[in-house]
Amino acid sequence: MNLMYNSTRSNKETVTASQAILKGLADDGGLFVPETIPALDKSIEELSEMSYQEVAYEVMKLYITDFTEEELKNCIEKAYDSKFDIAEIAPLKKADGAYYLELFHGATIAFKDMALSILPHLLTTSAKKNQVKNNILILTATSGDTGKAALAGFADVEGTSIIVFYPKNGVSPIQEKQMITQKGNNTKVVGITGNFDDAQSGVKAMFNNKELAEKMDKAGYQFSSANSINIGRLVPQIVYYVYAYSRLVKNGEIKAGDKINVVVPTGNFGNILAAYYAKNMGLPVNKFVCASNDNKVLFDFFQTGTYDRNREFILTTSPSMDILISSNLERLIYKIAGNDSEKCADLMKALATTGKYDITEDMKAQLEDFAGGYSDEAKTAATIKAVYEKEGYIMDTHTAVAAGVYNAYKENTGDNTPTVIASTASPYKFTRSVMNAIDSKYDSMSDFELVDELSKLSGVKVPNAIEEIRTAPVLHDIVCESEKMQDTVEKIVEKWANK
Ligand SMILES: *Cc1c(COP(=O)(O)O)cnc(C)c1O
Repeated sequence: MNLMYNSTRSNKETVTASQAILKGLADDGGLFVPETIPALDKSIEELSEMSYQEVAYEVMKLYITDFTEEELKNCIEKAYDSKFDIAEIAPLKKADGAYYLELFHGATIAFKDMALSILPHLLTTSAKKNQVKNNILILTATSGDTGKAALAGFADVEGTSIIVFYPKNGVSPIQEKQMITQKGNNTKVVGITGNFDDAQSGVKAMFNNKELAEKMDKAGYQFSSANSINIGRLVPQIVYYVYAYSRLVKNGEIKAGDKINVVVPTGNFGNILAAYYAKNMGLPVNKFVCASNDNKVLFDFFQTGTYDRNREFILTTSPSMDILISSNLERLIYKIAGNDSEKCADLMKALATTGKYDITEDMKAQLEDFAGGYSDEAKTAATIKAVYEKEGYIMDTHTAVAAGVYNAYKENTGDNTPTVIASTASPYKFTRSVMNAIDSKYDSMSDFELVDELSKLSGVKVPNAIEEIRTAPVLHDIVCESEKMQDTVEKIVEKWANK
């Protein structure tokens, strides 16, 4: 029997995994969730003998039950191949009393590659399965990393096209260069004058616009989402937590059954939610430490039980976490409300109208496994410098937020449980901030001088993703106001459709 999915906001719509992947968002604006979270059906011992690809199959087969074994294995093979610069795909590095789970060895050197290298294949397989004839048009809002990873994943994948919106002044120079040099006849990159939340709201509005959907259908297109709300993003992210745990067992760092802590630098709450799903599947996790930067809306939420986005939006050196609406939190809210979609819908309505909501005491009691923390800019920079000087290990700004939060957590609680820190980007992606943290003398250098300097300091070879953009020509230069996103999409599609 197939595992079915329903919306976090009503029980009316029940769909298969492939349908949920195709739709991205439910018709009522809610997120798709599995009716129950499946349990792992392989032991840790068995998993610890498997490759990344094999673990991926064992996890994903439990969620995407309407794919045949061959279809799913085919998707996995196409995704986790030599695009990754290391055979282990997601290696663990021990440094400064923790295990860094390096999730940045894919095509665009950020953790988004873990899911976005497989999503196009999940989508095209889902389309075939559901007799979809339209071209699947991916609309994505990005705070930097999703955009490039999605572009790289979908570029020239037959039957798909992609439009990425990013905040023009809210991503790093290297992130921007990565996106606007993207090749592929089916790709468009658009800067908007607003921030990430504006971009995300604009995309959500287009997904919910029935009239626009009809127009698109006439032109032979239909929208889908590559944002982290798509279950096709969430499910592949569960894999690496299971894999990391099994590697710790394999390497004799822990025994099967021992608990670990997981620390995740969090923005949209997708990565940490995947860890939470892994625990619900049976993975022995003690605490989830949710790390925020100065945009500490989640820290406040875990402290007080009130989610309140009414605050100043702060641009930080960890831009992929500069987020005030963490979309994937809705799935956790739904779960701690006892899978009560009505309750969840009420809270999300409050969020949309007043910018805040309060959870009940009962719900709060179910957040025991979570600890929130935040690291401000000074602390994040100090963490990068300290770990570099102590261990020679250079981490990026997002990972440093997590490391800073973890150190404070350990000090405050005395909790010495073996801990995995999700390392979400290569330091090469945020070179200037990373090098400035190590020494202010670097500030006068150009971006690519800094890249070479970072390589000297860390002894890590400059990744291909960076080498490529040194000389790549700019191919995208559209900029629009946040209110004009829909107009821009219509114009692009008109051009594409008439080609
Ligand atoms: C996207 C991203 C995050 C935040 O992940 P979420 O799943 O949105 O919480 C953290 N670090 C980096 C480098 C990212 O790209």
